[in-house]
Amino acid sequence: MLKKTFKRGIHPKQHRGSKRPTQDAPIENYVSDSVVIHMAMNIGTPATPCVKKGDQVKIGQVIGTANGFMSVPVHASISGEVTAVEPIPYLGEGNVTAVTIKNDFYDTWVDDLKPLGSVENVDPALVIPAIRDAGITGMGGASFPTHVKLTFKEGAVCDTIIVNGAECETHLTADHRLMLENSVRIVDGLRAVMRALNVEKGIIAIEDNKPDAIAAMERAAFGRVGVRVQVLKAKYPQGGEKQLITAVTGRQVPAGKLPIDAHVVVLNVGTCAAIADAIIDGKPLVSRICTVTGCVKEPKNLRIPIGTIVEDMIGACGGFSEEPGKIFFGGAMTGIAIPNIQTPTAKSTNGVVVFNEKDAKSLDESACIRCGRCVAACPVGLNPYKIKVAADASDFAAAEKLHVMDCMLCGSCAYMCPARRWLTPSFRFAKDKITAERRAAARKAAAEKGGNDK
Ligand code: SF4
Ligand code: SF4
Repeated sequence: MLKKTFKRGIHPKQHRGSKRPTQDAPIENYVSDSVVIHMAMNIGTPATPCVKKGDQVKIGQVIGTANGFMSVPVHASISGEVTAVEPIPYLGEGNVTAVTIKNDFYDTWVDDLKPLGSVENVDPALVIPAIRDAGITGMGGASFPTHVKLTFKEGAVCDTIIVNGAECETHLTADHRLMLENSVRIVDGLRAVMRALNVEKGIIAIEDNKPDAIAAMERAAFGRVGVRVQVLKAKYPQGGEKQLITAVTGRQVPAGKLPIDAHVVVLNVGTCAAIADAIIDGKPLVSRICTVTGCVKEPKNLRIPIGTIVEDMIGACGGFSEEPGKIFFGGAMTGIAIPNIQTPTAKSTNGVVVFNEKDAKSLDESACIRCGRCVAACPVGLNPYKIKVAADASDFAAAEKLHVMDCMLCGSCAYMCPARRWLTPSFRFAKDKITAERRAAARKAAAEKGGNDK
């Protein structure tokens, strides 16, 4: 089969073999004594808690209501008693409101789940509302509300849905295992979306370093209308939306534009499986698969209730195998360092990677030497060192002019940087600030027009 790819990209040699400890580790279910579920898990407006301390909750019960279009509800991921509803510090985002639930271990689900039946027979008009009500956000790490992604502006045309099974990030194998162990659900989710959007082409894109996943997804796709698998060359960042679209369709997404401008929607494999769960079983998004690896005694792929604390997951993997340096949510390229092991997981947490002290030291930054390697590495053609200067000076207007909003936070520039500059955290910060400013401006404009969009 012809293998496709995009121009540029890198092969992170330093992390070669980082997937090996978990790629053959079957998914294990893990449930802890308590979870801490925060309300700001999606890009957009946080949910508002609708339970109070002392309440008894069931799995799948709404504990946070959505606030407007760019928001999703949040559901209890275990059954038990609400022991706190309070602000907690979260990943440099300031305080976010969180609901703590103590597990009663009865695993009681809410009684009013509303399955919609087979994805091939469901009324297409019900699919996107069901995705919204299930609280589904992008599970590849982006946490963008999926119903928003699937709602286009007037005149937009989508002719292809790409399912992202590239998992090009280092260390992580959660998507790989999902493709092996739950391949039919992924295809079901894809078919539901194809029918909802009246799209005839569904392509599952997988890198050639996962031949077993390719075989499993080809079997699952067999006989399903309009669905096929596309094999890609393994290269970083193959799973970036724009790179994936170019590799699979040959189309370019112009700077400042979205995949839909190239008539494509990209969904992660985990997102597709969650969509199938919502349609077929009526179940909201309450759990996910997370790779726990690095300096832990038994690296694993765990299916965890959303809100599971990192310390509990490390315990489930036998504890630290050596003194930890830094712990990341996500892999080495796009991951975010977490402040402590009490940090709870979110819908987008696809990995917990523990670096030892030596590796953590190698992540410390020094001054820029203006070598330009970051520029050569950027698959989008940006100038990372200039953006870093603007972002660190909080000159967001300058960062915007340098097209920081086109940065997909892939980390290729940081990987190539001999000074180990922390480029992606600065870019993430600038993007968040610019997004918040744009949203505030849109809200102000809507309020002046008498609208109430949040
Ligand atoms: S500037 Fe952004 S898109 Fe370009 S390499 Fe760096 S992180 Fe990736
Ligand atoms: S690769 Fe690093 S040191 Fe070189 S120009 Fe870019 S930021 Fe500066």
